[in-house]
Parts: sequence; structure tokens; C-alpha cells
Amino acid sequence: MCQRKCITYQGSCLCRGVQFSVNGFSEKAANCYCSMCRKFHGAAFGTLVGVQGLNWLLSLIPFCRRL
Ligand SMILES: [Zn+2]
Repeated sequence: MCQRKCITYQGSCLCRGVQFSVNGFSEKAANCYCSMCRKFHGAAFGTLVGVQGLNWLLSLIPFCRRL
């Protein structure tokens, strides 16, 4: 349950086969520059933040439609 204003944020992968919603974010965030985070994000670092009220919405298609 969210502690502040209840706002739902939604996101997905590019093909929308995997979708999710969250109710809020933790106050702590971090930038990690390990080799895995740099490769995964395709950038100099990956930004990591905790979420509240995570809800996965999976489509019936088992794999990404772009594969
Ligand atoms: Zn890392």
C-alpha cells in the first residue's frame, strides 16, 4: 500500500509482452557501474531503485514477439 499520494506507474518491454505497474518508489536509489550493469543498460552505469506494490502483467505469449 502506498504511503503518499497513490499514483500508479506503468511500464513494459518494447513489444509489451511483459508489462508491470508499481505504486511508488523507495527513497533510496543507486547507480552501479559494474560490468554487468554497464552491459545490461548499454551505458556507463545502471540506475537501480526499489519499488512498492509491484504487479506483473504477463501476456499469454510466452516469448517476446520480436524474437
Ligand atoms: Zn551492477
